[in-house]
Amino acid sequence: MKVCQQLLSRAFSHRVNSYAVSRTTSDIPATGSPKAGRWSSAQSASFCSSSAEDRKARPSMLKHLSSKIRSTGPVSVSEYMKEVLTNPVTGYYVRKNMLGADGDFITSPEISQVFGELLGVWIVSEWMGAGRPEQLQLVELGPGRGSLAADILRVFSQLQSVVGGASVSVHLVEVSPALSRLQAETLTGKRNMEASSEDDPVYRQGETAARVSVSWYRRLEDVPAAFSIFVAHEFFDALPVHKFQRTEKGWREVLVDIEPADPDRLRFVVAPTPTLASSTLVQADERRDHVEVCAEGGVIVQQLARRIEEEGGAALIADYGHDGTGTDTLRGFKGHQLHDVLSTPGSADLTADVDFSFLRRMAGGGVACLGPVTQRMFLKNMGIDVRMQVLLRNCSDPSTRKQLISSYDMLTNPSKMGERFHFFSLLHPSRLAVPKKPQGLKLEKKSPAPLPVAGFTELGF
Ligand code: SAH
Repeated sequence: MKVCQQLLSRAFSHRVNSYAVSRTTSDIPATGSPKAGRWSSAQSASFCSSSAEDRKARPSMLKHLSSKIRSTGPVSVSEYMKEVLTNPVTGYYVRKNMLGADGDFITSPEISQVFGELLGVWIVSEWMGAGRPEQLQLVELGPGRGSLAADILRVFSQLQSVVGGASVSVHLVEVSPALSRLQAETLTGKRNMEASSEDDPVYRQGETAARVSVSWYRRLEDVPAAFSIFVAHEFFDALPVHKFQRTEKGWREVLVDIEPADPDRLRFVVAPTPTLASSTLVQADERRDHVEVCAEGGVIVQQLARRIEEEGGAALIADYGHDGTGTDTLRGFKGHQLHDVLSTPGSADLTADVDFSFLRRMAGGGVACLGPVTQRMFLKNMGIDVRMQVLLRNCSDPSTRKQLISSYDMLTNPSKMGERFHFFSLLHPSRLAVPKKPQGLKLEKKSPAPLPVAGFTELGF
C-alpha cells in the first residue's frame, strides 16, 4: 500500500489549487432513488428527448421493431435492447449525448474529477505491480464524454517521473460516432481525424496535447494485443440482457411482442417453448425465479481475461450490480426519471444491473478476480478522504467547497452511489501469486507476501 500512498502524494502535491469545479453546470442533486441506479442531475433540461431529431427517431424505431416482429415473431429482450440502444441509425447511444447535467443521467466521472484521478493512481500502481512494462495501453470501454480518460491522463502526466519511461497509448471502444466526436474534443481538441474508409477498424485517430496517441474502435477485438489496463465504467450495464422466467414447464425466455389490442404498443410475453438462449444460458442449479443473463458482457469478459492472461495487465470494471442475487432489474431512464422499458423505444436509456458472479464465471480460471467491493470502500481505500482534505484545506471559495463536499457525499454516501456501485477487477494471476523464496538464502524466514492491490485492500494513512 506504500506504493499507492506515494503515488497519491506525488500526483497531487503540486496541484491542490487546480481542482476544476464539477463538470456539471448545476449543483449535484442530494436526492435520488438508489433503486434507479442512474443518477439524474438537478437541472432537468432534456435537450435530448425534446429535439426534432429525437421526435423523428422514436416512431421510426417503433416502426422498425414492429415490422421485424411482424415478419419473424417476438424478439428476445436482448435483441430489443440491442436495437434500441445501438442500432447504427436510430439507437439511443448512437444519436445522443445522454450524459451530464443536460443529459438523461449523470455518472461518477462527471460528478467529480477526483474519481478519475483515483482510478489513474490505481492504473499506475497496477502497471508498477506488473514490473513497469515498456508499453502501457489504456483501453476504455464505453468512454462517454471522455472525462474519465482525460482525468486518468492528467494523473499520468503528474506522475511523469514514474510513468515517463513507458510508451503510453489510449484505445477507446465506442459504438457511438456522436460520442466519439465529443471524446475526441475532450482528449485531443482538434488533433484528430476520422478514418477515410468505413471498413477501417480504427475509425478515428488523434493525439493529445502531450502527444499521446488516441484511437477509436467499434469492437474490443480490434484493439492491438499488448500489455493493457482496461477500464469499463457504467459500460456493462448498457449491454443487452436476455430475460428468463421459471415456469411449471421449466425455464422460458421473456420476449417482446406487439400489443394485439394496440399495434402502436409493445408488450412482454413468455415464449411457449424453450429458445436456444433459455436452454443454454440458465445455470442448471439456478435458484431464482427470474434471471437476466448478459451474454454479450460474458463474451467481452472472456476476451478481457484471455488478453490479460496472454499479454499481462488488468481490468477494472465499475458498475451497479449484484453478485448473483438480482432478478428483474431491467429499467428505462429518460429525463432523469424511470421510464417504461417498452414505451417510445429509442428515446430512453435501457439498463440492467451487472451480475458480477456471471462475469467471474465467464472470466474462467486463467485470471484472478477481485471484488466486487462497494464504490465507497474502493474510493476510501484509494485515499479519497485524504485527497478531499487537501483540496478543502486549499480552497477558500465557499461555492467550490460546497461542491467538493457534495460530490464527495454523492460518490461515497451508502445511500447514494457509495454502496450501489461496485468495483470488480481481473488481474494476471502472477499479480496475486506469492513471490518464490530466493534460492540459497537460508536465513530468510518466510516468503514475502504479494503486493496488495490498491482499492481492494484497506489503505492505512
Ligand atoms: N463510461 C462513461 C459512459 C457510460 S454510458 C461514464 O461513466 O460516464 C455507456 C457508454 O458505453 C457510452 O459511451 C456508450 O456509447 C457506450 N456503449 C454502449 N454500448 C456499447 C457497445 N456495445 N460497444 C461499445 N460502446 C458501447
